[in-house]
Amino acid sequence: MTTSAESAESLDLFVNAKQQFEQALTWIDGIKVGIIDYLINPKRTIHVRFPVNMDDGSIQTFHGFRVLHNRVRGPGKGGIRYHPNVNEAEVSALAAFMTWKTAVVDIPFGGGKGGVACNPKELSRSELRRVTRRFVAELGDNIGPHTDIPAPDVYTDAQTMAWIYDTFDLMHPGQNNLAVVTGKPLEIGGSVGRDEATARGSLYATEQLLKRGVVPGMETLDGVRVAVQGFGNAGSTAARLFQEAGARIVAVSDSRGGIGNDSGLDSEQVSAHKSKTGSVVGMPESTAINNEELLAYDCDILIPAALECQIREDNAAKVKARLIVEDANGPLTTVADRIVQEKNIVVLPDIVANSGGVVVSYFEWVQNLENQQWDIDKVDRKLKNKMVHAVDDTVDRWTALNTRHQDGFNGNRLAPTLRDAALVTAIERIAIVVLQRDIWP
Ligand code: NAD
Repeated sequence: MTTSAESAESLDLFVNAKQQFEQALTWIDGIKVGIIDYLINPKRTIHVRFPVNMDDGSIQTFHGFRVLHNRVRGPGKGGIRYHPNVNEAEVSALAAFMTWKTAVVDIPFGGGKGGVACNPKELSRSELRRVTRRFVAELGDNIGPHTDIPAPDVYTDAQTMAWIYDTFDLMHPGQNNLAVVTGKPLEIGGSVGRDEATARGSLYATEQLLKRGVVPGMETLDGVRVAVQGFGNAGSTAARLFQEAGARIVAVSDSRGGIGNDSGLDSEQVSAHKSKTGSVVGMPESTAINNEELLAYDCDILIPAALECQIREDNAAKVKARLIVEDANGPLTTVADRIVQEKNIVVLPDIVANSGGVVVSYFEWVQNLENQQWDIDKVDRKLKNKMVHAVDDTVDRWTALNTRHQDGFNGNRLAPTLRDAALVTAIERIAIVVLQRDIWP
């Protein structure tokens, strides 16, 4: 098998996801060859094209996707993204990450993902509402509380989730439909803590990783310099929470550019500036930087929290951080993964680092099914428990793989990464269930 390190770089996210999977497979003994194709490829892919009335009286046709990657461990679970670059390969990869994420963090879901190719910045609120409602109507019974459950992702938010719920509820009157979607507003079945769950989970995961001594010389976040790419839901909250935990935020960016200040940026003030102006750019007492400079910023921890394939063959060697915490999904290509590994940079992989979002989505789903409302202490305690276990399982597996590597296992030329360890854990958990459920007929 050609390993990912030997392949030419691809910016197709699904190619990268498959390379990660294949690399992890080299560490697994005795998997039944016949189920590999089933484990890696989507179970079902839905394409819909639908017309929407625009505010100016014109009609525009939109293209939407929903991929159910795997559901052997439970219903599909994964966000809906609105972005011009949404395409089948991207959605398939993001759905695969969800399958592996729900397995490694051990919640009873499979993986799904969806998206509509559109530029939400150019759409009015009422156009976004019509796009969302029509998309949900087109998906019909392919989503549902026990089949496939959407959530927010890039450029979708609690309001989008409220429209999804309302549309589905109108189509299915007379039953409790709250659990069809998570990330809803608190007033209609959302969970406390969901809005900051992705970032809070990545904080808990990072703290546990440091406690386990995986990054030499960095045992806590105290005084640690952090740069964050992408100042949206995940990134801005991560900046605030890491700062509260003792770190210094030295640089942040969004789609319009970045800012740096070695003495530290105040994340609340940056958020206020972004709310007022639409961007972090132009923040007083900061130096303007571009996104390439952000990725190469002199810092201890780099948190990519924007989009996929941001760290590639052409810029990976410039990364100065000692730890990369992947709040975004798939921010490193597999080639970049190997480059940073050679530089001894530790990567806390996306399927662990950003799994706090789906963990609290799971809590929301449970609360909806039971008509319960938990308080923030309960949500945070249970989230922390899940994140600590996911990191411990990953680090324990990584340690075991390292021992095998030193013993010359499989002639594998590359030392294992935390990503390999997390994926091995996830793939084994899924494969066991496939075999335990048995194959029908
Ligand atoms: P968001 O839309 O709230 O924020 C995205 C941010 O990235 C925006 O500030 C945007 O300006 C910025 N951005 C876009 N292109 C950029 C570029 N080239 N350089 C720098 N910044 C850029 O989205 P989000 O929900 O925060 O998601 C961000 C990432 O986190 C995605 O990869 C998403 O899949 C992942 N994620 C999100 C959640 C969640 O619960 N929201 C959960 C898990 C993973």
